[in-house]
Amino acid sequence: MKNQDMATPCPNCQGFVRQIEIEEHVLFKGVEVAYTATLQQCAECGLELADIEEAAVMQERLADAYRKIVGLLGSEDIRRLRQEKGLSQQALADALEVGVASIKRWETGVVQSKSMDTLLRSFLLDNQCSEHTGNREFSIPRIRLVLEAFADHLKRPLLKKDDRMLYAAKYLWYADMAAFRDLGRGMTGATYAALPMGPQLNNYRDLVDEILKADMTSASPLSKAETALIAAVARTFPTNKGVYDASHREAIWLRCATGALIPYSHAVDLTEMPTCKDLS
Ligand SMILES: [Zn+2]
Repeated sequence: MKNQDMATPCPNCQGFVRQIEIEEHVLFKGVEVAYTATLQQCAECGLELADIEEAAVMQERLADAYRKIVGLLGSEDIRRLRQEKGLSQQALADALEVGVASIKRWETGVVQSKSMDTLLRSFLLDNQCSEHTGNREFSIPRIRLVLEAFADHLKRPLLKKDDRMLYAAKYLWYADMAAFRDLGRGMTGATYAALPMGPQLNNYRDLVDEILKADMTSASPLSKAETALIAAVARTFPTNKGVYDASHREAIWLRCATGALIPYSHAVDLTEMPTCKDLS
């Protein structure tokens, strides 16, 4: 297509059209930005021609030059960091609770707002412990929120005073791991250890009281995708025995040494909890 365009003679004088690169200086969002523009120009009469494809590339270059000056992540940065985390555009959109169209636009030259840039950075550049917290800050109120959502679906409470969390932790573990696998981010930020009785909330003994008295309204609300995932886990494992036995068949628990933390990145190898896609 491009070659054909270049072979097309100038519509004005039938002269030879060639590709040229020029340094453009423009005012963009109030900032003077320099970028290299590629366009087609007739060698005879100087007529400038650009196709839509080139215009899109120019828009991306201009936007990236601007982002570099004002200190925002560039489209290539966003794409690369997303891919390094192993996330699809949809998974990143779900994790940030924005539409996938926004991610697509940011990766192709539409400038994100400062607040969205902060959100992108906190998510994409946070590698600290995300291996054990599933890309999310640990939140006890959110653990309670997830457990209450499970209780609604299962029609029975999951957590009581002095609970050993034998079953509640299994449901939480599946919700967190499947959310990390399918949505790019866990639900609670909890860390799980491989114990003889299965995957368990790390330090659960210290957490039960805290969870029971946590203020759920202080937790960020469950997204639609998270709510659907909790429902799917509850449907897959309607009984305590079911969720307990399933967790003991998971290779990602079996292969961990006793007491070791179970990395969220291993969630891709879950075998007992189907992915959202398989469920719909
Ligand atoms: Zn011409």
